[in-house]
Amino acid sequence: ALPKLPRPIQPLPDQLISQIAAGEVIERPSAVVKELLENALDAGATQITIRLEQGGVKRIAITDDGCGIAPEHMPYALARHATSKIASLSDLENVMTLGFRGEALASIASVAQLTLTSRTADADHAWEISGSPVDGDAGQARPSSGPCGTTIDVRDLYFNTPARRKFLKSEQTEYGHCAEVVRRLALARPDVVFSLSHNGKTADHWKGSDLQKRCAQILGAEFASACLAVDETAGPLRLLGFVGLPTAARSRADAQYFYVNGRFVRDKLLTHAVRAAYQDVLHGDRYPSYALSLELDPAQVDVNVHPSKIEVRFRDSRAVHQFVFHAVSRALAQTSATASGTAPA
Ligand code: ADP
Ligand code: MG
Repeated sequence: ALPKLPRPIQPLPDQLISQIAAGEVIERPSAVVKELLENALDAGATQITIRLEQGGVKRIAITDDGCGIAPEHMPYALARHATSKIASLSDLENVMTLGFRGEALASIASVAQLTLTSRTADADHAWEISGSPVDGDAGQARPSSGPCGTTIDVRDLYFNTPARRKFLKSEQTEYGHCAEVVRRLALARPDVVFSLSHNGKTADHWKGSDLQKRCAQILGAEFASACLAVDETAGPLRLLGFVGLPTAARSRADAQYFYVNGRFVRDKLLTHAVRAAYQDVLHGDRYPSYALSLELDPAQVDVNVHPSKIEVRFRDSRAVHQFVFHAVSRALAQTSATASGTAPA
């Protein structure tokens, strides 16, 4: 006999919906760092401080000097599917902000202890709110203190989802993932000051600068002294950045940074296009280093493929592949180091 359905079909409680969604987006501490940094950048921050404790599991506190959130909007900031970034399908198709799903803070708040403190430029003082609104325990904002901008303080990640907690790796591994996320966003925005500390010790402090200097700060002086500039435009497509000389290639693909409209992506098509440009000047077991930024009409690219938005889809992927391949090939052809007779034109 068929087993009986254990229960009638029922809608899930909101808190559980958020925890399920969080499972998808908030895989580990570095995912919290990514979401909070993206929010800070979307808020127009020029200076961002990231404080981590115990690999981010104990605490992730991110402070920015961005536009802040008015106290009456704070409960919405923590609510699911609430965003200030899009209001319609046409906004979604032209989205220029890093966030737009309105899910991150709600997801984080459902699997950690979250406190949001914020002050807008015209407010007399800061306000704060904590808890998870879907839990019904967030309530209203309370008066607080602090400078203009926002601090989001996330403690005890996965305190209420022990199954998730078990999947966490060592403190050092989790910290490594967090630091990598900071590097990705810092390379995307060389104009912004980033400070990162772990367990009270300063790990990185990058002053605001241009992309070349930021590359030196993050990819190292070695890369900076052995790289070629890329700056190509073809119709609506533009590729900007730096590619490492073939002689500076690495044994691991650990210094490959590609951005589409300011968003870090790891896209097979783009990786392939760059790799193909290096084809004739690089051994198969070596990996090029690069920091490249592709700009195009947002309507020509779909960033809504996956909640973590690391994958993208292009309307005309062939044209994008060709453009990236040719732009990188031309940059590599600038150098006599590629004069093996087979450098692509
Ligand atoms: P999304 O970024 O997709 O809109 P989030 O859950 O990450 O969703 O954030 C919800 C809303 O909270 C944002 O739309 C924004 O209005 C506000 N917000 C979040 N973080 C910040 C911040 N650091 N500064 C200003 N506003 C913020
Ligand atoms: Mg966001």
